[in-house]
Amino acid sequence: MKITAIKGMSDLLPPQSTHWERVESKAREIFKTYGFQEIRTPIVEPTELFVRSVGETSAIVEKEMYTFEDRKGTSLTLRPEGTASVVRAYIEAALYYKDPVAKLAYFGPMFRYEQPQKGRSRQFFQIGAELLGVQEPMADAELLIMLEQFFSSLGITDTRLEINSLGCKACRPKYLEAIQKFLKGKLSKFCADCQKRSDRNPLRVLDCKKEECRTLTADAPMINDFWCEACHQHYREVRGLLLAGHVKFKENPRIVRGLDYYCRTAFEILCDRLGSQNAVGAGGRYDGLVKDLGGPDVPGVGFAVGMERLMMLIPDIEERTSDIVFFALLGSEAQQKMLSVMQELRAKGKQVECAYGGSLKSQFRRADKSGAAQVVVVGENEVQKGTAVVKKMSSGEQREVLFGRLVEELTV
Ligand code: ATP
Ligand code: MG
Repeated sequence: MKITAIKGMSDLLPPQSTHWERVESKAREIFKTYGFQEIRTPIVEPTELFVRSVGETSAIVEKEMYTFEDRKGTSLTLRPEGTASVVRAYIEAALYYKDPVAKLAYFGPMFRYEQPQKGRSRQFFQIGAELLGVQEPMADAELLIMLEQFFSSLGITDTRLEINSLGCKACRPKYLEAIQKFLKGKLSKFCADCQKRSDRNPLRVLDCKKEECRTLTADAPMINDFWCEACHQHYREVRGLLLAGHVKFKENPRIVRGLDYYCRTAFEILCDRLGSQNAVGAGGRYDGLVKDLGGPDVPGVGFAVGMERLMMLIPDIEERTSDIVFFALLGSEAQQKMLSVMQELRAKGKQVECAYGGSLKSQFRRADKSGAAQVVVVGENEVQKGTAVVKKMSSGEQREVLFGRLVEELTV
């Protein structure tokens, strides 16, 4: 029987892998200018980490995690998101001793047991960034400005940023009470999921995607009426900084986010071109999470962008004009003579291809397929003369080049 990949998990093949690499390099390049450095954490973590951070009543922990026991019976989970692991690592390495401010970026796969569909898979990749140690609104704003720069560097200009504040420990409880009170009389009209959620995590009712539930909550109390003065002030400042940074946004008091650890700023980046899974990225502030996970009381803010959805927004950019050099070599003597030339060219960063044998005709067919700009032909005659024939594929123009001058000629 043929072995295939697991449902909802797919291979990334060329040439898509090249497009992904380009996008990830762009992120690395831009994030670096804001002082972010990469962190790589294990893909498997103790289950407890996500239960405690993402939250027992979150959709992720309730039904989306890949959890299993290892050979000793310890419960492990394939990470469903990145922040919890970054915070765990931050505490474990006591990074706060070295520098009160940490700017960490991550790139990698996440796992959620969801129904695979367009824009939703069971293994998906995220690019994320976390800024720890700053409670000022400038940190929230800077992350969003960085994201905006990243998206526009990729030629994406039709995303919408929506922001909200989820309040803090001081004001959120009052809002939760108000929501619960609102839901009480009409709970039976909501979907089964919402009925279950209303007790333990009433905010999630606002997040329900079902039309009936959305209509029912249209006149629900909104969090912005419950913000304490400090939360209000924080929100106003973030808004002011976004305006100053020319980042367009819409205020959406319905954004609640599915993860428990958020407080204050919460945002989503949406694009209509994505269809019904329309969020390409999301994030927010999570002051209190570091402390909850056993670290000092360090604030944090971050985001995660879904790579698969991001890639759907970018037209596959044609490879820039090829500068591949293809070596068509006839006989082992020609191969031996040219090997060092090929090595030298590659050391200079040039992409060098060759056929590993075969007739001249078949080698030219391969050269064509590779998209080579130039083909270097060396057969017995050429070996004898010490010159190669270099053919420009676009014009068909040919010239003879001494072996000793090949590297120089081919790198101009
Ligand atoms: P959604 O509302 O689509 O379920 P989410 O709120 O669960 O998203 P986050 O936890 O905020 O998603 O993750 C950040 C980003 O990761 C999302 O905006 C999305 O682009 C991407 N993402 C999340 N889950 C998946 C998935 N199952 N498949 C592909 N991408 C995903
Ligand atoms: Mg989800």
